[in-house]
Amino acid sequence: MSTSGFVSALVAELGPRCRVITDGDLLASYRQDMATVVPGGLPAAVVLPRTVADVSAALSLATRFEVPVVPRGAGTSLAGGASAVDGCLVLSTEALTAIRSLRPLDRLAVVEAGVVNAHLDRAAAEHGLMYAPDPSSYEIATIGGNVATNAGGLRCVKYGVTRQSVLGLEVVLADGRVVRTGTATTKNVAGYDLTGLLVGSEGTLGVITAATVRLHRRPVVPPTTVVAAFASLEAAGEAVARIMASGPEVSLLELLDGTTLRSIDEWKRMGLAGIDAMLVVQVDGRLPDDAAQVAALCAEAGAVDEAAVSTDPAEAEELLAIRRLAYPAAERLGQCLVEDVGVPVSRLPEMIRRVEAAAARHGVTVLTVAHAGDGNLHPTFVWDHGVAGIPPAVAAAADEVFAAALELDGTITGEHGVGVLKAAWLERQVGPEAMALQRAVKAVFDPLGIMNPGKVLV
Ligand SMILES: Cc1cc2nc3c(=O)[nH]c(=O)nc-3n(C[C@H](O)[C@H](O)[C@H](O)COP(=O)(O)OP(=O)(O)OC[C@H]3O[C@@H](n4cnc5c(N)ncnc54)[C@H](O)[C@@H]3O)c2cc1C
Repeated sequence: MSTSGFVSALVAELGPRCRVITDGDLLASYRQDMATVVPGGLPAAVVLPRTVADVSAALSLATRFEVPVVPRGAGTSLAGGASAVDGCLVLSTEALTAIRSLRPLDRLAVVEAGVVNAHLDRAAAEHGLMYAPDPSSYEIATIGGNVATNAGGLRCVKYGVTRQSVLGLEVVLADGRVVRTGTATTKNVAGYDLTGLLVGSEGTLGVITAATVRLHRRPVVPPTTVVAAFASLEAAGEAVARIMASGPEVSLLELLDGTTLRSIDEWKRMGLAGIDAMLVVQVDGRLPDDAAQVAALCAEAGAVDEAAVSTDPAEAEELLAIRRLAYPAAERLGQCLVEDVGVPVSRLPEMIRRVEAAAARHGVTVLTVAHAGDGNLHPTFVWDHGVAGIPPAVAAAADEVFAAALELDGTITGEHGVGVLKAAWLERQVGPEAMALQRAVKAVFDPLGIMNPGKVLV
């Protein structure tokens, strides 16, 4: 069936009640997400539904005309998960922004997919609660996108990734049927865990329109922050392994390498230039000894100078700002491929060695930051602006990094998702039998294969 017939039917049915974009220039702005190395195709239309019924109507039409659908939140994906394909319908959740309910007594909220992560957390804060998963993109990324990618973040080392905070979902399937999964209870073992399956499905099984999410008590005392500098990445990795093995429970444990610190310093002049690796650690419990114990473990692992310990919230924010500057500082250097491998924490020092060796072997620049307490590293490869596509040397170094992660019992993606960029690697991680099961699951949810084609399963 014709794409123009689809667009006319879409405008006729949904145009009167929600925004439908068919203008060329605007359409082009929905081609890509933040994985700019994925070129993306030109959508036939973009729809911004305002209700679940709108989403259902749009998907019914897409099924009738067999038009591919790309669900999109804020488009901050670093894996190309929200990149468009030619002639597709981009279904954007920008207008699904209601917090339907917030129930302090039950410590949960029911939120629409387009609610921005930080907006939900601020609403929870008014009740002394917090929404724990906090990807570094939390000021712009949506709950729907976070659920669809099973996003992680800085607090996940203590509070878990998005999956641990999702109790239930409202989802529209490819043919327009609306399905509700899970419950408003923390315990629920009735039937297969469809909520768990849909979390992390990257828009390939349906469109998430709302989520019932768990909220946590907000710590009443500000966290204590510990910052330690090291003469090598390996020594910092060793400190991480020690803290996780025998230290107190930490609420944040981030690692930055020397190249990252130098790139931040060249930009912001923060006195970081001579440091080869840095750990930023927080404890949000109340035991006064916790931070001292973290500082002692850093010293044992070879920290240079004494670790800085602060309970001042303003100072803590400044120290965390260093971590948040890592990605924009890398972007200033050139084009970036942000990788996202994970290994068991005990293998972190070895993985760091393997990243550095891969970069050196292929003569490419790499900046590594890590949610180190989760064993989740983001080696970011950087090359000159103006070069089209991923340079072969960068692709070869990245392939070595994926292979090393798998050898060390790890994963090719800890939080960004498979998207387009890792699709060729998925079978190497999960094996042919699990891959066949994944394809069979996809066929049940989306028999025509219209949901986010070219992502995850290729
Ligand atoms: C500066 C920066 C820092 C980042 N830091 C982190 C981090 O710390 N941790 C982390 O995990 N990620 C991080 N990311 C990656 C990204 O922000 C996350 O993957 C985020 O969850 C994507 O949310 P989004 O709303 O932008 O979704 P999009 O990018 O729009 O979409 C992401 C995927 O989800 C699908 N999708 C979106 N909404 C829906 C929906 N309603 N229903 C079904 N499928 C949907 C899309 O099809 C796509 O496959 C970072 C990105 C940037 C740019």
